[in-house]
Amino acid sequence: MSDPMTYDVAVVGYGPVGVTAANLLGQMGLNVAVIERNPDIYARARAISTDEEVVRIWQQIGLADRLTADMLPGCGANFVDAKGVPFVKLLPGPRGNGHPPQQFIYQPALEKVLRAGVNRFRMCHSYSSTSACA
Ligand SMILES: Cc1cc2nc3c(=O)[nH]c(=O)nc-3n(C[C@H](O)[C@H](O)[C@H](O)COP(=O)(O)OP(=O)(O)OC[C@H]3O[C@@H](n4cnc5c(N)ncnc54)[C@H](O)[C@@H]3O)c2cc1C
Repeated sequence: MSDPMTYDVAVVGYGPVGVTAANLLGQMGLNVAVIERNPDIYARARAISTDEEVVRIWQQIGLADRLTADMLPGCGANFVDAKGVPFVKLLPGPRGNGHPPQQFIYQPALEKVLRAGVNRFRMCHSYSSTSACA
């Protein structure tokens, strides 16, 4: 029997990057330990948009359709002056990756879907002083 405390990879930090890595590593069949100091998803919007290359990564882990259902594509960004008059509009062009070049996100909702995705795989989670392995 293998040592239950031995893992192939430890993912420290379970934000969007860590949870995406955990999905990729779980998909590869690796034995992963996730270590995060806060048990709950931080419930404030921070990152506001994603690009097509990142959506390709989420496509690879089978979550792109579910994630993009909550995103706003094709909005661009309008810069306005003090009187609210637009002076620059930025709308990135596609680079051929098969998804809109920029989509607006709500980070807590995105992290929730990504964490649910990790539940498809055998993984050990450790939050502060508690831990759970499946
Ligand atoms: C106030 C604010 C405003 C922002 N505004 C924008 C914006 O307008 N647009 C935009 O694109 N991005 C914005 N961001 C940035 C965006 O939130 C980050 O780019 C994104 O969250 C980075 O993801 P990450 O997974 O790399 O790191 P994080 O989301 O920071 O996740 C890291 C995780 O690691 C955990 N952790 C850290 N140290 C340890 C440790 N020692 N042990 C265990 N766990 C640990 C943390 O608890 C956290 O859950 C903003 C961020 C902040 C804070």
